[in-house]
Amino acid sequence: MRLHHFTYILQSRPAKIRKSSIDKYLQRSRQDISEISVDFSRILWYNDLMKISTRFQRSIRSVEGNSILKPGSNNQKLGFKIKSRKWREKRLYSLTLTERETCPKSCHHWEDCYGDNMPFAHRFSIEGLEQKIESEIETLLEKHPQGIVIRLHVLGDFYSVDYVSFWQDMLFKHPELCIFGYSAREGKIANEIRLLNIRFSDRCVIRFSRSNEYNGKDMFAAEEGFEGKSFDCPEQTGKLPSCAACGLCWSVPKTVKFQTH
Ligand code: SF4
Repeated sequence: MRLHHFTYILQSRPAKIRKSSIDKYLQRSRQDISEISVDFSRILWYNDLMKISTRFQRSIRSVEGNSILKPGSNNQKLGFKIKSRKWREKRLYSLTLTERETCPKSCHHWEDCYGDNMPFAHRFSIEGLEQKIESEIETLLEKHPQGIVIRLHVLGDFYSVDYVSFWQDMLFKHPELCIFGYSAREGKIANEIRLLNIRFSDRCVIRFSRSNEYNGKDMFAAEEGFEGKSFDCPEQTGKLPSCAACGLCWSVPKTVKFQTH
């Protein structure tokens, strides 16, 4: 890689990005820099046209050697022991993927994803992900025979039809497993998610991130300005401490409304 490549990267870098080691290289004498090897996957989180990954590239973790399903006790908003009538006593875990890399470009929050304000969240890369999730689910279900609930995806989204099928296999294989979350997907992946919600209606609730009212089929998570039939997330309004204490997202079909971050 040549110096002019660095210059190009820096020129197209959004102003608010923290100065990186590239800047330091550029401050040196140009003669010192003839050729430098660069790991692009850890530097470029945007291309010429748009953002394409998390802005916190160093927070991306390989699944190998890491626990990827995190207990809800690590996240005040989630909580751990479920108290809602539905899924009571199960334990809540969460999965965080890499925002934008796994998300549809049509997402309304592509430019201002709330992951942009989560520098410390560990995002897991999808290489070897499914195998690792499967083995962790087995271990966690041995530990919690009453069952577990996995919150998909604190960051990121369903990235393929096969990945949705993977969750179908997991739900089929493990009757004590439940999942809930939100997805901005449309098209084929959304159709598969719909089928998953129908096939496992008592153990799988994936809401679509759109400002719509419940239509008898799909459930939605809307923005705060939504004026249709909906309820405000009680954790955000301070009425309840956590999802584990609330459970409305997986218990009622009405649209949930979230404050815009
Ligand atoms: S409505 Fe309840 S379950 Fe849904 S996100 Fe808010 S606290 Fe969690």
